[in-house]
Amino acid sequence: SPLKLTDFLQYIVEDIQLLAGSDYKIALNLSPSLDGKIFQLDEKLLRHILTNLLTNAVKYSPQGGQVDFEVRIENNWLHLTIQDQGIGIPPADQEHLFECFHRAPNVGDISGTGLGLSIVKKAVDLYRGKIVCRSELGVGTTFQVDLPLNGIPKS
Ligand code: ATP
Ligand code: MG
Repeated sequence: SPLKLTDFLQYIVEDIQLLAGSDYKIALNLSPSLDGKIFQLDEKLLRHILTNLLTNAVKYSPQGGQVDFEVRIENNWLHLTIQDQGIGIPPADQEHLFECFHRAPNVGDISGTGLGLSIVKKAVDLYRGKIVCRSELGVGTTFQVDLPLNGIPKS
């Protein structure tokens, strides 16, 4: 169904913020290029992608951590960036992130099944999009997702 993207993004961030609690701040930065735009988007796929990435960003950050979530459109691509100031991902694990059940050794007692990112990768592939991760141990992690607006499957 046609969807006002800015509303949709705000609802998702509100949900994650409620779960995260007041110890975390999720800062949503919507580019003016999105203003008033209505898109034919697959809500379910986009929700899977964003919920998993934002939940990870909170879960692998210390209390008080800020998560920056930036969204913009350029040349018919939707660019989504989720940046945290959390524990980071060891270099050796970065190439295995999207494999089922893979978890990095620095997660300590933070619980998880290791499936979230494999679902994200599947959803991004269905969109014919791209996902890249940049991370530095103890500094933070950034996931960048690029989705082609014309290649997006209809819901
Ligand atoms: P779940 O299936 O509940 O999502 P999970 O969070 O362990 O469990 P993924 O979301 O697939 O699984 O993430 C895989 C692994 O990648 C994590 O266990 C963690 O080691 C690492 N990881 C993912 N996102 C981050 C992040 N933002 N910061 C640090 N490590 C991360
Ligand atoms: Mg996860």
